[in-house]
Amino acid sequence: MIRSPSLSAKSAKKWDKSTLNLWFAPWRPALIVAFCIVISCLLGIFTRPIGLLAALWPANAVLLTLLIRLRGAASPLGIFAAAAAYVCVDLYIGTSLLGTVLLNFGNLVSVLVSYAVWSALLKKKRILEAQNASLVGILATGLGASTAGFVGGIANPILFNGGQWDGWYYWFATEFINYMIFLPVLVSVPVTAKEFDRSFDILKQRSSIWPALAVAVSAAASILVGGPGAIAFPIPALLWVALSYTVFPTSLLVMLFSIWFMFSITNGGFLHIGPTDQSSLASIRLGISLIALFPVVLSQIMQKYNEVLSQLNYQATHDSLTSTLSVAEFRKIAQKQLNSGNEAYALLMVDIDHFKTINDTYGHDVGDKALQAFSDNVRLNLRPNDIFGRIGGEEFAIMLKCSEAQALPVAERIRETVKTPVRLDTGQSRSFSVSIGLATIQPGQLIQIDRLLKQADLLLYQAKRRGRDRTETVLEETNLS
Ligand code: GH3
Ligand code: MG
Ligand code: MG
Repeated sequence: MIRSPSLSAKSAKKWDKSTLNLWFAPWRPALIVAFCIVISCLLGIFTRPIGLLAALWPANAVLLTLLIRLRGAASPLGIFAAAAAYVCVDLYIGTSLLGTVLLNFGNLVSVLVSYAVWSALLKKKRILEAQNASLVGILATGLGASTAGFVGGIANPILFNGGQWDGWYYWFATEFINYMIFLPVLVSVPVTAKEFDRSFDILKQRSSIWPALAVAVSAAASILVGGPGAIAFPIPALLWVALSYTVFPTSLLVMLFSIWFMFSITNGGFLHIGPTDQSSLASIRLGISLIALFPVVLSQIMQKYNEVLSQLNYQATHDSLTSTLSVAEFRKIAQKQLNSGNEAYALLMVDIDHFKTINDTYGHDVGDKALQAFSDNVRLNLRPNDIFGRIGGEEFAIMLKCSEAQALPVAERIRETVKTPVRLDTGQSRSFSVSIGLATIQPGQLIQIDRLLKQADLLLYQAKRRGRDRTETVLEETNLS
């Protein structure tokens, strides 16, 4: 096919860009994997005590997270990129060829077994949301770490002149603690703005600083007191953290606690909790992993529990059809506002005119949709602090913090807005009219919400009597109570 000569320079450039994107797309996850593994291996190498395996080795937890969270990473290309990155870093820092092969074979086996178990037990898409995600994660990484232990059993006699069982134990413990330290943080790190809000919302409260401070104080106490039991001193504070924070901040604190302990017991650390030969170190690392596990699992359970609780709370306080407040919640919030101050308030009681004909003409389901469209339209005219509730059927109440003079234009605007025809499910358009009763109170005037609702209701029925599609603010003599 002959390409049109009129193709503009702009669209040609666009074509170039999208071709480049198309070409690059399959490589992107693999390049990200390689980059992250190089950086995290280098981080691990900085912490590697002479002659021992790295005390902190985030690379495997990073790779496992990428396989789970990064689309396209769990592919032959992604795994090849990871292997290449592991090997390049070791060769670059001068590890022997045999050492490089054994160490990195151990790394890859550990991650791949963990990934295979995790994704086999939970559907991949829901892997992090599942109720039992953390327990399955522990099982998966435990199996991954123990498989790596077999490589350790082979490598220990060759690389470090040690025994096979010691090799298995030491590799297993080191692998496992590294998963326990880094994996919860990495898999829960917020990526979208919504996740970020969810993770840190609770920390906006001033009192939320206390659990974190308690961890710091108990860590300091474990230095001052010392001894083998010192490792467990921060447990109560970490449990407090788990009960107060979401998973990400909890995992972050647990990570800091674990890293601090790892450093304070190795290489002349300040916490003298006993001998630091290879098997004692492995035992301590296993102990720290198991301590780290509790707060993370607890915070995951608490986060789920709080989410369910807030969903239930929303359902209990809102009308399911229109998402406006339920009557009880409306009364509660409105009364609280009335009690709180020296302000003028206006209460609008709004009722759709002849709504029954909508149901009678088009059916109840179309009537439901019309009620939703109606309340969405009303919402357009309200400010975030206005209170909007469904009092019953096609009757709504709105409380505004303002005088009658300011509330009247709002009422009139609502009356006009709802006249805009809404499209019904049947394809037809239909407009509404509403009648409104507007009752107000002056600043400093104390009144119960039920009394104000009653007044607005009387005004509403006055509006109905006087022909509908109008707002009433003053009661006729006969209606005055
Ligand atoms: P008026 O102008 O006097 O207010 O007349 P009206 O027809 O709007 O008032 P009436 O009280 O006679 O009827 C209210 C109707 O609203 C009857 C009821 O079927 C309907 N309705 C109440 N709640 C719902 C609901 O949740 N969904 C639907 N589709 N209709 C509802
Ligand atoms: Mg009505
Ligand atoms: Mg009604």
